[in-house]
Amino acid sequence: MAKSKFRIHFCENCKAEKKMQILGAVEGNETKVWHKCSRCRHNFLIDTGLLNVEEKKDLNDLVKEECSNYNPINKYEVGASIYHSDWDDMGIVTSKVKISSGLQAIIVEFQKNGNKKLIENLQED
Ligand SMILES: [Zn+2]
Repeated sequence: MAKSKFRIHFCENCKAEKKMQILGAVEGNETKVWHKCSRCRHNFLIDTGLLNVEEKKDLNDLVKEECSNYNPINKYEVGASIYHSDWDDMGIVTSKVKISSGLQAIIVEFQKNGNKKLIENLQED
């Protein structure tokens, strides 16, 4: 059986970005594709022609060799894939935040650990 394809997309029902199963295109209109939200199970017809050219990576498709090793002194871009050696876990940077101490942090969605906040761009004295 073929492996299901997924895409992270904003769900109008959940009002959040959710993992959606790609069900298939409408006959005669290849850019209109049915998606099923993995959380609320609603189906949505999404015009993939309107989506950003740069598709978001699927968390489950990450390959360790293609991830950058996490190191707090480095800077990361949103969308970058990261490997955390202590946790033996791979994730994708979903956003960047400033934390109270004036430090910068990235929010990373990890395969095993879920969403984690990690320090980035740490300046050493
Ligand atoms: Zn939903």
